[in-house]
Amino acid sequence: MSDCIFCKIAKGEIPSNKVYEDDQVLCFKDLDPQAPVHVLMIPKKHLDSLSAAAEEDAALLSHMLLKIKDVAKELELDNGYRVVINTGEDGGQSVKHLHMHLLGKRSMNWPPG
Ligand code: 5GP
Ligand code: ZN
Repeated sequence: MSDCIFCKIAKGEIPSNKVYEDDQVLCFKDLDPQAPVHVLMIPKKHLDSLSAAAEEDAALLSHMLLKIKDVAKELELDNGYRVVINTGEDGGQSVKHLHMHLLGKRSMNWPPG
């Protein structure tokens, strides 16, 4: 996906404030933070959204969840946090590359807007 901004970030073609990286995922600070801690986790493999994930992505998806939990611990979100996957138009997804938001260091509201 040559025109995908998160693919470019994953390849280092666009700079980001990296929080965690391994062979499968990259975690970096959101450009427009909605909480004192707001980071994004993306798979290095391009998937348009969660809806595009298939059975073959099961290991990748579980890897993302387990690693974002580790990042939350690393960032000392001991009082709790929220993981969000905006999906599609009604879900408020603006970047069409699967990503998880990790938000913390403030109390979250429910229901979300
Ligand atoms: P979405 O609305 O698709 O769930 O979330 C996309 C997120 O990506 C937004 O929170 C937005 O601030 C963030 N974002 C968009 N472009 C960039 C960028 O170039 N760098 C970083 N670090 N974050 C970005
Ligand atoms: Zn992409």
